[in-house]
Amino acid sequence: MTDADYGVSLSLRDRAFRDEVRAFLDSALTADTPTQTRTRGEKTRLERMRWWQTRLHEARLAAISWPTEFGGRSATPVQQLIFNAEMAAARAPEPINRSAINQLGPTIIQWGTDEQRAHYLPRILSAEDVWCQGFSEPDAGSDLASLKTRATIDGDHLVITGQKVWTSKAQYADRIYLLVRTDTRAEPRDGISYVLADLATPGIEVRPVRQITGASEFNEVFLDEARVPLSNVLGPLHGGWRVAKSTLGYERVGQSRTHRIERRLDILVGMAKQPNALTEKAFADEYVSDQMVRFAAQVEALRQIAAQATAAGVRGMSPGPEASLAKLLTSELDQAMANFGLDLSGPAGVLEAGSPGAAKNGNVAQSYLLMRAATFGAGTSEIQRNVIAERLLGLPRDP
Ligand SMILES: Cc1cc2nc3c(=O)[nH]c(=O)nc-3n(C[C@H](O)[C@H](O)[C@H](O)COP(=O)(O)OP(=O)(O)OC[C@H]3O[C@@H](n4cnc5c(N)ncnc54)[C@H](O)[C@@H]3O)c2cc1C
Repeated sequence: MTDADYGVSLSLRDRAFRDEVRAFLDSALTADTPTQTRTRGEKTRLERMRWWQTRLHEARLAAISWPTEFGGRSATPVQQLIFNAEMAAARAPEPINRSAINQLGPTIIQWGTDEQRAHYLPRILSAEDVWCQGFSEPDAGSDLASLKTRATIDGDHLVITGQKVWTSKAQYADRIYLLVRTDTRAEPRDGISYVLADLATPGIEVRPVRQITGASEFNEVFLDEARVPLSNVLGPLHGGWRVAKSTLGYERVGQSRTHRIERRLDILVGMAKQPNALTEKAFADEYVSDQMVRFAAQVEALRQIAAQATAAGVRGMSPGPEASLAKLLTSELDQAMANFGLDLSGPAGVLEAGSPGAAKNGNVAQSYLLMRAATFGAGTSEIQRNVIAERLLGLPRDP
């Protein structure tokens, strides 16, 4: 990658940082390193992702944008962009605790007590604690403030009863950060608390949900009088809504990572260059070439918007509506590209892994199915459009 690829000229310090990251990736990435691609043998994949995070942590690269005093490097926005770009170019996997590094850690830094920071942050970095997010409920997704999981105070504990759903990774996580209703008389947003809980707490049960892809990447989490110390409340008691908003802002920044999309574009270009279901020769069909140019332009636009959102997040600013724009573009583009992969593959595209003749060994079908979820996770496209309409375009609020 050259300086031009970062869209800014790099200072000597930035170049030294880039060289350090490159040298680390050169030495650390082996043929055995887990890739982003879903592989068979979930357990092995997870063990390797954990191992990869340990390597990043040893090199002080697990959470470079965190302040130095908490184990990060107080990286500048440019350094974060360099890091993201180098990781993507090297096809490096993500750390197992990615969401905790990107969302929970910054939230604890912002809202936690000294004790909470000292206890949780090092364990996030080392992957000693793998975390999952317990926000959504069967009747509280987009309208998160209507959540019903109850917590009553009993001495120095909260006693929690309710149900969470779509909890990604809960089946192998150690801990969960969750929203519970601690004051039922207050306005919906004023009676919520943000709680850090151990998943091994008696009364918490995790049940995997089987998806349309056949995999089980998310879960239902049932809480039946689970006792969690009051000292595990993050931020003010009953004031968890503001804390949750911090996490959700960081989540949207995290979702705008562009390397997955760039990789998908590379794969599509490769597929379009081969004889395919729509054209006999590379890009011979106007529709195909038109689509590819459109995707390439959108990917470039996304790179710019995502860079702005990342920069705001790294500076500790609320990521703002740019994060919604980046999230919207990322997920819609992800989905459109997966759909187009199916178009290019023709009937072979619908065959699953293991079926003779399956396009890309079943990955085309897998991506198509998987990407149905892209416009839901981390806030649906309609919700992002509402944010953009209200906060960027100044249109009237959604009632
Ligand atoms: C892959 C994936 C991973 C996830 N991981 C987690 C996780 O780890 N932890 C967690 O807590 N949650 C997780 N979720 C849940 C996710 O946050 C919710 O799916 C999302 O917030 C939407 O909520 P819902 O599914 O209840 O849909 P609803 O909120 O019921 O929405 C249904 C439809 O109505 C539309 N809609 C709703 N309100 C409005 C409105 N005001 N204006 C216009 N349209 C509207 C929506 O856009 C959608 O099309 C995950 C979801 C996915 C897909």
